[in-house]
Formats: sequence, C-alpha cells, structure tokens
Amino acid sequence: MNPNRIVAILVALTAFFTGVAAATGEESAAVLEPLPDKVVVLTFDDSVRSHYTVARPILQCYGFGATFFITEGFTFAWNKTDYMTWEEIASLDRAGFEIGNHTRDHKGVSPKTIEQLEAQLAAIDQSCEEHGIAKPVSFAWPGNAIELEALPILQKHGMQWARRGGFPEYPRGGERGFPYEPGLDHPLLIPSAGIPRPGYTFEEFVETLEGARDGEAVVLQFHGVPEGEHPWVHVSRATFERFMAYLAEHDFQVIALRDLARYVDWRVEPRDPMKIVEARKAKLAASVIP
Ligand SMILES: [Zn+2]
Repeated sequence: MNPNRIVAILVALTAFFTGVAAATGEESAAVLEPLPDKVVVLTFDDSVRSHYTVARPILQCYGFGATFFITEGFTFAWNKTDYMTWEEIASLDRAGFEIGNHTRDHKGVSPKTIEQLEAQLAAIDQSCEEHGIAKPVSFAWPGNAIELEALPILQKHGMQWARRGGFPEYPRGGERGFPYEPGLDHPLLIPSAGIPRPGYTFEEFVETLEGARDGEAVVLQFHGVPEGEHPWVHVSRATFERFMAYLAEHDFQVIALRDLARYVDWRVEPRDPMKIVEARKAKLAASVIP
C-alpha cells in the first residue's frame, strides 16, 4: 500500500478514537512534528507603535518569532505617536514576523456585527496587499469576544488560526487563561494563557509558563510595551525585557501563531468546540474553595 495512504488511514483512526473530526482529502495526511515542550506563541494586538520601536529589536536580538495583529481602529489613521504606520508594519513583515488580521475598526464580533466581519477582514487584507504583505492567515478576536457563528465566515475567508483571550473560561478583561491544547481547542478559538496588564507580575508570568503540560503551548497576548492609548493593558519596557530574557534563558521556543502549522494540522477541528471550554470551567468551579 502507498505510504501516504497508510498515513491517511492512521490520521483517520486517531481522529476516530480521540473524538476529533479530521478534514478529508490528501492535505490532511501531512506528517507533522510533535509539539515540543516549552513552546510559546507571542502575539501583539492593536498596531501599537511600541511593537515596532521596542518589541521588534528585542525579539530580533533573541531570534524570537511573533504575530502582530493589525487593526486600523482607534486613532490609527492620524495618531502616529501611539500607532504604527503601514510602512512600519510592512517592515515587520519583511523582518519575518507574522502580520495577522484584527479587523479594520477593531470591531467586536457579535450577532449584531457578524455581517460586517467579511468586509472588516477584507479591508485589512487590502491594506496588506497595498504594502506588499501576504494575505493574513491568522485572526485575533477584537476585544476577546467570541462568536461561534463567525467560524464558517473566518474559514471561508481563509483563516487558519484565530486567537481569543482567557474568556469564556475566565471573565473577559482579565489576565488569565488556559494553555492551548491542540486537537481539543478549535484552531479558530485558541486561548491566550496570559494577557499581561499593569498588575501582571513576574511570578504570574512564570506560573503561566509552567502551567503548560507536554503537548500544550502557551499563547501570550500583549498590547503596547509600553502602551499608548490604552493604559489598562500597559506593560512597561523593563517588564517586557525581563519576560523576554526569561524565555531566552530558559530555552523556550518562541514562535508566531502561523508557525504552529509545523506541529498542528489547522484543518482538524473538534466536533464540539465548546467541550474543552466547558470541561475547564467545571474544573475551575470545582477548585474554588467555598
Ligand atoms: Zn485588540
């Protein structure tokens, strides 16, 4: 029997026994590397200027990958003290970082706004194209609000990966979340394990990293380092430098969201994307001391 056929059968059998719905077709037979221990996915939201001026040189110094989720919302159009120019965004792309889509207007996805999602995504694609950047394959849910009805729209648009916050396991607006569990988490609902804000300590950062078991990845969601318009998600340059130095010293593999494709088949999705979320919520509820 053709070896590709054997791989396809093994993938299908694994999917059957683990309750995962495998996509059909030749593509799903791709041989992937196992997800190594100590993988960190770095993400930066909202096109903040310090992503270019502060984060970029630090990441380059360590050879770290990262995804920058771009929106033209807030005062992006005219406030170039706090937001990057498209030339700076294009330069991040040329430097090998991933450019992701965070909607044109930073529009939260809800039943009310869902019909605008396609146009919101297309507008960022258009700006990318004008600046020589390939169409993004990664999306970050604006405001960390998720909407299951939007999954087919994202898929149809060509999105392979999407990152949410710590919600719905934790309340929105917090710093905590769960590590990403490939196969159990839907590739368009990848949780952030940590969303550093002003009160997020170094000890919490280390705890977040240590919370991931084998086969899981820690996805971190940063905003400005430092922040401009949104002080509630500010992380100082000194804190950011300390975090990155820790990752380097402890041999973490730091990658962009799209780099997960080396280890995870984005075409494989769980039958019920909320099953793992509900299981974690139940675990949290059980761990609360009355
Ligand atoms: Zn955002």
